[in-house]
Amino acid sequence: MPKNPSIKCSIKPCKHHSSGEDYCTLQEIQVGTHEANPKKIECTDCESFVLS
Ligand code: SF4
Repeated sequence: MPKNPSIKCSIKPCKHHSSGEDYCTLQEIQVGTHEANPKKIECTDCESFVLS
């Protein structure tokens, strides 16, 4: 799968990570949160993550 140059990502264990470079290969991703009231970067999640 070619990388999507609009989505940079360093999560190498993800099935959608571009193996050669730090990009995602999906056309789009879903970003969400596991918090009721997110206020910090740590509160955000890539919900398109799939363990490879
Ligand atoms: S789905 Fe999310 S975690 Fe996985 S490579 Fe794409 S941006 Fe990174």
